[in-house]
Amino acid sequence: MSEWMMSEAEGYDLLRSYGVPVPSYRIVNSEQEAAEVAEEIGFPVVMKIISPDVVHKSDAGGVITGIGGREAAAQAFKRIMGNVLAAVPNASITGVIIEEQADPGLELIIGGKTDKAFGKVITFGIGGTLVELMKDVTLRILPLEADDVRGMIREINAYPLLTGYRGMKPKDSELLVTIILSVSRMFLENQRIQEFDINPLRLYEKGACAVDARIILTDAPEVYTPSENIPVPMEYFNPRSIAVIGASQDPSKMGYAVMHNLLHFPGQLYPVNNKRADIQGLKAYPTVLSIPAPVDLAVISVPAIHVPRVVEECGQKGVPMVVIITAGFREMGPEGKALEDRIVQIAHSHGTRIIGPNCLGVIIPPRGIDTTYVRQSPYPGTIAFISQSGAIINTVVDWSISANIGFSAVISVGNQSDLNFLDYLKFVRNDERTKAVILYIEEVHDGRAFMDVVSEVAKTKPVIAIKSGSSQKGQKAASSHTGSLSGSYDVYMEAFRRSGVVVVHTLTGAFLAAEMLAHPKGYPKGKRAVVITNAGGFAVLSSDYSERYGIDLIDLPQQIIEELNGVLPDYWNKGNPIDLLGDASASRFEQTFRVLSKHSEIWDIAFIVGFPNLVLTSEDLAHQILAFSGMTENRIVASLLGGESMDVGRKILKDHGIPNFGELDFTYRVVGRVLWQKFRTRAPGLL
Ligand code: ADP
Ligand code: MG
Repeated sequence: MSEWMMSEAEGYDLLRSYGVPVPSYRIVNSEQEAAEVAEEIGFPVVMKIISPDVVHKSDAGGVITGIGGREAAAQAFKRIMGNVLAAVPNASITGVIIEEQADPGLELIIGGKTDKAFGKVITFGIGGTLVELMKDVTLRILPLEADDVRGMIREINAYPLLTGYRGMKPKDSELLVTIILSVSRMFLENQRIQEFDINPLRLYEKGACAVDARIILTDAPEVYTPSENIPVPMEYFNPRSIAVIGASQDPSKMGYAVMHNLLHFPGQLYPVNNKRADIQGLKAYPTVLSIPAPVDLAVISVPAIHVPRVVEECGQKGVPMVVIITAGFREMGPEGKALEDRIVQIAHSHGTRIIGPNCLGVIIPPRGIDTTYVRQSPYPGTIAFISQSGAIINTVVDWSISANIGFSAVISVGNQSDLNFLDYLKFVRNDERTKAVILYIEEVHDGRAFMDVVSEVAKTKPVIAIKSGSSQKGQKAASSHTGSLSGSYDVYMEAFRRSGVVVVHTLTGAFLAAEMLAHPKGYPKGKRAVVITNAGGFAVLSSDYSERYGIDLIDLPQQIIEELNGVLPDYWNKGNPIDLLGDASASRFEQTFRVLSKHSEIWDIAFIVGFPNLVLTSEDLAHQILAFSGMTENRIVASLLGGESMDVGRKILKDHGIPNFGELDFTYRVVGRVLWQKFRTRAPGLL
């Protein structure tokens, strides 16, 4: 594959053909010609180097603006040549472009890049030479509608510069929308454009002018072919009989742990081992073929070299699905990949489906299925957890037991040689027990299909994702022709947001968000919040965190203040956060809650922050919070802060599905992320 850069002149021509205003220009090859042509264009003019070897022209001294006369034009030609040859000694130079000098205006950037997983993406933001430093950009995955573009424009921090800031007149935003749409169309229609940037596009009160165009072409354009996906019948996840191939009596072996975790499976369990007649108290069979009854699922943990033979036997036996725990395939390099391709081919020739290899397999606690080697099987519950990391599953499952959190399913996707994220998402979408879905994602292969499927799931169940790789180091260096303003992580974030997925950065946050959204009340209907607390210190922190995470603390209307005056001591703070003071009893909370629930239409979320003391037990406070939640459709979020003395209250809340957070910053951060999904909040703490 090779890539090359269009000249600025070709770029201008292409942009002009899509209706984007560009300066008129001519190309010259000598000082003499420069002087004549500059005069014909009309002073002042701008001159720039034309060279496929110079990507950033100003950096190489290849741009001179404000050229006001013939003599200056001739000199500029000479200077540009000298500068560029000094900066890039062997640069091939095809001439100098002389263009009309556009009036100063607001300098913006419109860029495009082709993402490996999600395809063509448009970025927009504040342009100019400081663009990499400012990083005030947003992005969208194509295709786009005008409203998406308007949303995109509103999102940048410098948006006030477009609407009129400190006496400046508003800029031509509607023209900007049209230009972004035209440029998006140009990007989509021209397969060979790999990436581009227009930096800057100068925007005026009326009109605009693109004064630079850097367009990178490829001779191997990405052609999107959706991966074919043979649906997996739901009943495959509800086997009546399971064979464990590689079952062992030796506690140090994987095949022992897998067998052990399946002992409470209520269906038929068949250990397969060619050396022993019985394993962990059950009759063992030398091969899967010698089992005298049908097998619905086989769990395979034999060494990699034996896997093809075992899969062949499973195929012959008519086993519909196998879980291959064994590692040593694609993740090991080309040889491993060949072995993996072989087992997929063998399985498919018999119509057998594969989970893994190199995975833990599945845990479906309500059905007593656990093909993993976790230390202890998790409790049944309503959360489905699908993870690309087996280690994270082990950790989360272990922690879930002490945290008393249960699962409808835990799935380790492994190498996704056959079944992939999409199949598992479809499974949890149809699974009635699943009320919320948590994903741990490192990478998806077919981003567009992923967006389609996950959006469907998110319509009926909350989906929360942790995506690793946000660090610069974690991301593979993106193509560096154009200022790489957004890495692949940003594209994932946009894809998630567009598909209705809540993004969090921590496992604890994921479970808190899942628990919060699994409640029948679902998402808060807006981001207007009230805070009720008995702690002055936490009231101030609550204001800080709300602002940081994009939650709007409302001003209390006079009427509410008056009603609260009637029930609270004179010296209450008469503001939001509502500080009920350290001596607040349960009844002071109760009366406040009554007033607020009567006015539920003016707020969307109530945060209740309580600390332990002798006038209020955590139990009493929890009961008041429960009653409050019953009085309003709005979301109630609690933070019972403190040590063990708050445990009773926390448990009451948990048993009734009221989210409770043990750390105040976390409360607002997680709720902020939930709101980000719905309302595209752009808060400083969420970036
Ligand atoms: P680079 O390759 O360094 O990005 P540009 O073509 O963007 O080079 O030129 C550098 C700067 O010069 C631009 O950011 C813009 O401010 C100014 N400039 C370039 N072309 C023009 C023009 N035709 N009219 C006015 N200013 C221009
Ligand atoms: Mg530029």
